[in-house]
Amino acid sequence: RQRIFSGMQPTDGSLHLGNYIGALSQWIALQDSYDALYCVVDLHALTVNPDPALLRERTRRTAAQYLAGGIDPERSVLFVQSHVAAHAELAWLLSCQTGFGEASRMTQFKDKSAKQGSDGTTVGLFTYPVLMAADILLYDAALVPVGEDQRQHLELTRDLAQRLNTRFGDGTAVVPEAHIVKAVAKIQDLQDPGAKMSKSSTGGKGVVWLLEDPKKAVKAIKSAVTDADESYGVRFDPVAKPGISNLLTIFSAVTGRDVDEIATEYDGRGYGYLKVDLADAVVAFLEPFQARANTYLADPAQLDKVLADGADRAREIAQPVLERLYERFGLLPAR
Ligand code: ATP
Ligand code: MG
Repeated sequence: RQRIFSGMQPTDGSLHLGNYIGALSQWIALQDSYDALYCVVDLHALTVNPDPALLRERTRRTAAQYLAGGIDPERSVLFVQSHVAAHAELAWLLSCQTGFGEASRMTQFKDKSAKQGSDGTTVGLFTYPVLMAADILLYDAALVPVGEDQRQHLELTRDLAQRLNTRFGDGTAVVPEAHIVKAVAKIQDLQDPGAKMSKSSTGGKGVVWLLEDPKKAVKAIKSAVTDADESYGVRFDPVAKPGISNLLTIFSAVTGRDVDEIATEYDGRGYGYLKVDLADAVVAFLEPFQARANTYLADPAQLDKVLADGADRAREIAQPVLERLYERFGLLPAR
């Protein structure tokens, strides 16, 4: 079976609906057909200098949300990035294969560093895509399910894998494919349909958090910015109607219903009806999700044990790959 790897950052106390629709729900769908590794990428979260106690708490909360969403630790390897030292070790090797100019072209770095200013921007934020490449290449992953915003980082990972194979010989690295499901790969901010829903978006009024009070989700949906289109038509058209199309995508994702079928049902009835019913559908999704997440969070010792077992399994896969790469790079074996 082919291997897949993916991860999310514990940058907030909760994941958002974009993380669930664009990534987590895809992970769940893939866990039966692949050898899957799903990781809470806490080393990535360090790039924005989080409070230590908060980071620890958020790492558990992120893992609990993976489980609540349906990641089964029997079928998939569920673990925390910092528990497997090889991620950081391989990142160093890859950083010495990445061009400075190449890394400077990453648009996510440009966006995030522009918001933080040059003193608030860490070198870690700059080398983040290199660590991400290490996460993937460390497991010889063939497929990486992510949202659209990760496409450029995945391209860099592929370039690096090909570069290693050219430089150090075939079989040095597996060149991974991105698994991006176009229809759901970019959930937009409800207040700003031109921008992606994001953990670090300022304000946060347009974000639906998976673990927040569902009443707030209802409010966010009802006050979602729609299009200044007089005709009130409800149809899926991301260019002319980005706000409505985003709501339709979310509606479809949480109910499993077809986008066009939903559009037809609400067309001509005004946006208010769509928002009210979407809010109900999102609450119906959030309530059982939160109940499950809270069960895992109520027993942190058990949760930590699941994560420790996952890390043991991850290390077993990672160690021989790291040794292969050390050897190919010409590092002298210790024994
Ligand atoms: P941050 O703003 O801190 O980068 P984020 O919301 O982008 O947070 P990540 O942890 O970076 O979250 O991403 C986790 C996964 O969720 C990735 O696969 C990413 O592509 C996906 N993802 C993030 N935002 C969206 C979105 N709005 N729509 C679809 N997928 C998304
Ligand atoms: Mg992100």
